[in-house]
Amino acid sequence: MIDFMEHNIYLDNNATTRLSEEVLEAMLPYFCNNYGNASSRFYKIGRDAQDAVAEARSKVASCLGAKPNEIYFTGSGCEADNWALKGIAFANKGKGNHIITSSIEHHAVLNTCKWLEKQGFDVTYLPVDSEGRVSPESVESAINENTVLISIMTVNNEIGTIQPIKEISEIAKSHKILFHTDAVQAVGHMPVNVSELGVDLLSLSGHKFHGPKGVGALYIRNGVKIDNLIHGGGQERGKRAATENVAYIVGLAKALEIACRDLDKNTKWCSRLQKKLIDGIEERIPYCILNGPRENRSSSNVNFSFRYIEGESILMLLDMNGIAASSGSACASGSLDPSHVLLAIGLPHEIAHGSLRLSVSNETTEEDIDYVLEVLPQIVQRLRDMSPLYEKIAHGKE
Ligand SMILES: *Cc1c(COP(=O)(O)O)cnc(C)c1O
Repeated sequence: MIDFMEHNIYLDNNATTRLSEEVLEAMLPYFCNNYGNASSRFYKIGRDAQDAVAEARSKVASCLGAKPNEIYFTGSGCEADNWALKGIAFANKGKGNHIITSSIEHHAVLNTCKWLEKQGFDVTYLPVDSEGRVSPESVESAINENTVLISIMTVNNEIGTIQPIKEISEIAKSHKILFHTDAVQAVGHMPVNVSELGVDLLSLSGHKFHGPKGVGALYIRNGVKIDNLIHGGGQERGKRAATENVAYIVGLAKALEIACRDLDKNTKWCSRLQKKLIDGIEERIPYCILNGPRENRSSSNVNFSFRYIEGESILMLLDMNGIAASSGSACASGSLDPSHVLLAIGLPHEIAHGSLRLSVSNETTEEDIDYVLEVLPQIVQRLRDMSPLYEKIAHGKE
């Protein structure tokens, strides 16, 4: 094997990304110098903070094709998802109690739906095909007279599937049902325009595009009635209490501005590295399965299952070789259950257990990928050599 800890390669960009220096620089003035309360216009540092938040809101709105007053800052992507689902469910309690979502959503959506079920709401969890795609027809046939909300993610965080959001939003619109999308893996990584997509609510998170962790946003189309999730003061036009986190809001907006400016260049670069990884792994490692689609896939995401071995063991050996990656989803690791996404696309438990997610960013280099393609086949072979199951296959005893 290669020298211990000589390398430092980060391939877990779907979990979180490195904060860019340019973003940090934009944030710094708002900690110790311009620390004013953004809700106070009575003195200069308050006005400066308020202006900074307003400018950030305009930047985020313009990246999404929204109006500034349709953008609400939150404390995370999870909070944006919780707010969209709980806020719409409770605001429409008089109308109906049925929500439609998919079985491969992020836990921020799935566990919120489970909680809503306990509060008396009905939730349909739609199945997906073997590539993780939700069919628009299945959405339409799940609609009943009590349906008040449809929530389908734009891009899956584990296997990179891009959903047919436009088709689904047209169905939602024709039935006059509100449509939310968790676009946390899409914003900053592919063109996202709220009016083209036809969505009513959309969640995003700063740390998935080289912005800070702990800040997100929810787009709420003007005219949509939603209950508060966080009650308190009148910040965010009375819809989300808490003294504005100015530095983080500025950081999110700066990171998104950069991501939108460099979108074409970055997606081309990521697609190239993605193809190199997929082709390289398929050439060098037998008994592997690409999870998720080959076309219509987020350019940052690669996910493979390697038969006869465990994802966790691969991660451990990758880490020993200076490579950071993940198996299943980051939120699910720590538990021994295989990923709900891999099970939903039809993988048997034992194959879902042998999965590895490698996610690139614009900061990943060609040399990083070369090194992974050198190390990973050795790791897989070493683990298979210790696997009794593989022994049988290799010696033709099966
Ligand atoms: C990361 C992620 C979230 C959660 O965002 P946080 O800001 O970490 O709370 C939600 N949905 C998807 C699809 C994600 O990838």
